[in-house]
Amino acid sequence: MKCFDCGAEMLASTTTHFVDLKKCIVIVKNVPCFECEQCGEKYYTDEVAQRLDEIVESLSRFMTEIAVVDYSANSVA
Ligand SMILES: [Zn+2]
Repeated sequence: MKCFDCGAEMLASTTTHFVDLKKCIVIVKNVPCFECEQCGEKYYTDEVAQRLDEIVESLSRFMTEIAVVDYSANSVA
């Protein structure tokens, strides 16, 4: 996979996904991604992006201020 910004090679990595929903904040750790070795641009596959949406959606229903979850945790179904 090539970086959309600079065209350099992107390497498989993990990152921390941070979402500010105004009423609350969601932090998802250990999210698989591709990271550009040159400019540091990060990219999620469609599958990962969809899973992140589901995690944030399910958490936002019952959380109050801040939630920290691990991407691979199955507690958020
Ligand atoms: Zn790049």
